[in-house]
Amino acid sequence: MNNFSYSLAADVAGALRMITAEPTAKFIAGGTNLVDLMKENVERPTRLIDITHLPLAEIQATKGGGLRIGALASNADVAYNEIVERRYPLLSRAILQGASAQLRNMASVGGNLMQRTRCSYFYDTATPCNKREPGTACSAIEGFNRYHAILGTSEHCIATNPSDMSVALLALDAVVVVTGPTGERSIPIAEFHRLPDHRPQTDTNLMADEMITAVDLPARTFAKNYAYLKVRDRTSFAFALLSVAAVLEMDGDRISEARLALGGVAHKPWRQKEAEVVLNGNLATRENFQSAAKVLLNGAKGFGHNDFKIELAKRAVIRALERAAGREGQS
Ligand code: SF4
Repeated sequence: MNNFSYSLAADVAGALRMITAEPTAKFIAGGTNLVDLMKENVERPTRLIDITHLPLAEIQATKGGGLRIGALASNADVAYNEIVERRYPLLSRAILQGASAQLRNMASVGGNLMQRTRCSYFYDTATPCNKREPGTACSAIEGFNRYHAILGTSEHCIATNPSDMSVALLALDAVVVVTGPTGERSIPIAEFHRLPDHRPQTDTNLMADEMITAVDLPARTFAKNYAYLKVRDRTSFAFALLSVAAVLEMDGDRISEARLALGGVAHKPWRQKEAEVVLNGNLATRENFQSAAKVLLNGAKGFGHNDFKIELAKRAVIRALERAAGREGQS
């Protein structure tokens, strides 16, 4: 691990001033990903700006009927928050399927959004990796790519985003609130993470001098018909081979609105509105679920070890929709 300096930020403006003055610095909150990356020499910040004392941990109902979650709320505080459990159970369920209890106690919402890929080559500084060192190569394309992406890939990177929370936030149409030197702006979660294209080193559309301050959930909760299905190699403390967030608004047996998001299949949580159109206004039948899954996986491409994820994803989407429609238990 490289030497680094440490500063404690007293307020958001001060934290932003520090990062602007020293662009090679990093904010640290829970540190559950950043410290690992520093130990592996993947991240080498010259300074850590400790933001844990900023007043950004509250979870509050908003006037419009939604919920504002402070960026420093821990994953555990969000998952067990009474309003989240009752009104946004999809989010609670997704968070509780991520990491371990200890990590969820430490990890912040902002850090969860910013966590980096778990591609093993990214962590191994002895191997080429375009995300870690742009212009070297992608070791995963011809290497061991069981956990890698099948959608939205580029010739430069096939990494996946590892977050469970972000998949649920995408299905719920959450908005990421960020603050920079010129004030606050809102980024729809669908536009927060990016695909790798020719710039895989950049995971998000957050600017270098900005900080995530909150996540806003809209008033629509989909608390009745929802499912978060995570498929992983072991049942505890493992990143997703893939995951599905499915929410439905039902009118009897008919779906009035469907939303589907996938995790573990792309550089960002994946949603295709065309797949939801297949379901909207139609009966909640297995045939319609199969059609939606097919559209959602349109253009999917494997790289050898991960070819199985295409069929697995289709089956997981169907199962998640069955659960959301109430035909199967949630567990
Ligand atoms: Fe690096 Fe992305 Fe390739 Fe992994 S998939 S080796 S992160 S460039």
